[in-house]
Amino acid sequence: MLKATNPLDEEKLLNKMAEIAGGKEKLFEQLLSAAKEAMTKAYASYSKFRVGAALLTVDGKIYSGCNVENASLPVGVCAEVCVGAKAVSEGSQKFYAVAVYCERSHSAWPCGRCRQFLSEFGGQKLIVVTEGKNGQLQTKTMGELLPEMFGPGDMTDMLNSP
Ligand SMILES: [Zn+2]
Repeated sequence: MLKATNPLDEEKLLNKMAEIAGGKEKLFEQLLSAAKEAMTKAYASYSKFRVGAALLTVDGKIYSGCNVENASLPVGVCAEVCVGAKAVSEGSQKFYAVAVYCERSHSAWPCGRCRQFLSEFGGQKLIVVTEGKNGQLQTKTMGELLPEMFGPGDMTDMLNSP
């Protein structure tokens, strides 16, 4: 398995992964396929709104997750939180791209809470991938989805101000 240890290696690794896949778009298509597969595991008994997410970290690892609902409805978590927590708990804290898929909604961009959650680990450069109405790949950066985001730097500024 390919493995990166510093930012330059990370960039090389991600370029190599894209090359192996046949280009960045193909790599993102693979990520979207993983999100579709993850969606089949969703626990969406109440909303019937199954969502899957797949995450590619800068060290080349891929994680997948799904939404997990609960009889106490606010307790449920989105697929993006599920996959993000999974990656962090496995030691991956730098996200490169995330794909989100929902069978009942095209252009399944993350909800506001998930944008904030994911931005912690990918910042403005995080690439978000989904599928449009006609099955075409759609990508945006987190900077486009959550401009003026509140990030770890803002927290440091607050803690250091008198
Ligand atoms: Zn969400």
